[in-house]
Amino acid sequence: MDEAIKAGKISVIANVILTIAKGFTGILAGSTALIADALHSLVDVLGSALVWIGIKIAQKPPDESHPYGHFKAESLAELGVGLIIVFTSLSILIEAVNNLITAVKPSFEFYALAVALASAVVNEALARYKISVGIKTKSSSLIAEGKHSRTDTISSLSVVFGFILVYFGYWWADAVVAIAISILILQMGGKILKNAIDVLMDKVDEELSLRIRKIIEGIEGIKSVDFVAVRGTWRSKIVEVHFTVSSEVGAEQINEIISKIEGLKDSFSEIVKIIPVVKISKEIRRIAIPVDENGNYVGDLNARFFNIIDLKSGRSWKIQNDFWNAQKMKGYLIAELLSRNKVDAIVVRRIGEGAKNHLKSRGIMIKLVDNLSSLDDIITKQN
Ligand SMILES: [Zn+2]
Repeated sequence: MDEAIKAGKISVIANVILTIAKGFTGILAGSTALIADALHSLVDVLGSALVWIGIKIAQKPPDESHPYGHFKAESLAELGVGLIIVFTSLSILIEAVNNLITAVKPSFEFYALAVALASAVVNEALARYKISVGIKTKSSSLIAEGKHSRTDTISSLSVVFGFILVYFGYWWADAVVAIAISILILQMGGKILKNAIDVLMDKVDEELSLRIRKIIEGIEGIKSVDFVAVRGTWRSKIVEVHFTVSSEVGAEQINEIISKIEGLKDSFSEIVKIIPVVKISKEIRRIAIPVDENGNYVGDLNARFFNIIDLKSGRSWKIQNDFWNAQKMKGYLIAELLSRNKVDAIVVRRIGEGAKNHLKSRGIMIKLVDNLSSLDDIITKQN
């Protein structure tokens, strides 16, 4: 890994030197293309600096006032750098277009050609060096950087090509090359900006969310995974998981499930925090249906009878609703009656606020059903 870090450092130093050399020469020779190429090198340096700052910031552990970590500081830096890149590349673009329109003819300078050529050679050397070290140290990011350096080579070569055309009298070539390079940088700036905004807006990483959901769905004891959201930078991610377990699952098993979910941190190095939220679903075991003397569905608490169905055993029986016409505390008395009969849920068409609260306080669920076509509907809808 040391060699990979060294390669990264050499690349940054080389790009700093190239930025200064090309910027200075570009201004001196009046070549917009060389100035644009200098900006390209500067953007690469800033990109490397952002990666370095990001690693430093991500290492800072969460504290009391930042319990979710400090990773968004990196995105704030990206936002700033992205804006600078977009504005400078736009100004170069405007200048190059202006040069074309007003027919500003750049002079051909040998030293400018030499600097651009040197830049192409250095970039190609950097590309080869980074790719070979990347392969040796199995660093995919270094290989990607090496491939990027190859586009830097092409960028500098296009400046060289522009100079040659200028030499042969095609004065517009320098501006055209500058336009092409500034559009390239504009795209890079746009990408950095988008990345920063996505993190700051807590955009969900759908791919990783789906992968984590699949893993969690496989954990024994979980009835349903209700919500999985992964957000953060590519290096520091926060995972929020909401899941439901049945009320039969004991506290010990719930703790076990939670530690299994939190254990995902070991398999994904980019995950810095996992927030599990557990919901315990009560299963309906005994249901009450308000009916009349003929067993027809009445749908409210004025019914003379309740049909009680025990879902586990499949048994059902009828009890009398002694309070069907109670003037006071009707909801309370009926809730009490149903609770005595160990009812978990009641099916009604309509119910008053007071009765609803009395039933809920006794842990009796209320299922609003207009027509009792099939009990299966109610049972399967439970969760
Ligand atoms: Zn580049």
